[in-house]
Amino acid sequence: MMRALILGGTADANLLAAAVSRAGIDAIYSFGGRTHAPAEQPLPTRIGGFGGISGLADYLRRERITHVIDATHPFAAEMSRNAIAACAQAATPLLALERAPWERTPGDRWIEVADVAAAVAALPERRANVFLAIGRQHIAPFGALPQQAYTLRFVDPPEQPLPLPDADVIVSRGPFTLEAELEMMRARNIEWIVARNSGGTGARAKIDAARALDLPVIMITRPRLPERPRVESVEAVMQWLGHRTCLGA
Ligand code: NAP
Repeated sequence: MMRALILGGTADANLLAAAVSRAGIDAIYSFGGRTHAPAEQPLPTRIGGFGGISGLADYLRRERITHVIDATHPFAAEMSRNAIAACAQAATPLLALERAPWERTPGDRWIEVADVAAAVAALPERRANVFLAIGRQHIAPFGALPQQAYTLRFVDPPEQPLPLPDADVIVSRGPFTLEAELEMMRARNIEWIVARNSGGTGARAKIDAARALDLPVIMITRPRLPERPRVESVEAVMQWLGHRTCLGA
């Protein structure tokens, strides 16, 4: 009997959950538990870590999972590495649903860096208005540049004081339109953007807005993962699960 596990927490995972539910496939949707009110799903859900590689391998056996789809964010590298190892241990087929990264286009002023530490080093010393478009768990290293005026955007309000002396938080859940991003960046006189190369359309507007405003973007490239089977569309996942889809139906 087919029983799928979707490692989720992304817009793509939510689209996949909808398609899986429409197809009547037995499946469980797993959230990491980072946000307080995760988007409702048409599938049974579970929340929180599995307990590393062995915890996930045990879970796969216990729940008799036959297919794992890793639809986590491209920067959720620990979860993705664990999924590769646990699926190998439990001999469970794994497929990643991962959008291609954004490509630089003419007019983009990207400074590509490998990680958050390199992003901090790429910012100017002089005071500037910086939009940090990265997850809250990655902002602490920017405390090394306390002179900057940071704008941050989170899904939930921060529960603890931020490690940045001059930080203004926007609480909002994407996706955002180009118009809204342009307005936000103009209103705050943003001069630098720090972003991660997530790919896809939901988070792209800030990159398009930066190009339109001729602003530099410090673009953190994706963490490297071991080779794994990977597709870019919900339709391709559904084919892997042995189903045809009529998207949007
Ligand atoms: P991470 O650093 O790769 O994962 C850290 C640990 O959190 C994992 O080892 C696992 O714990 C647990 N975990 C992560 N995703 C999980 C999931 N979907 N289901 C169950 N446990 C999960 O991940 P992260 O960057 O913190 O991301 C956490 C979640 O937020 C993911 O679902 C991801 O898709 C979503 N998300 C992340 C970003 C981002 O920027 N990274 C953006 C949007 C959404 P155990 O080892 O105990 O199993």
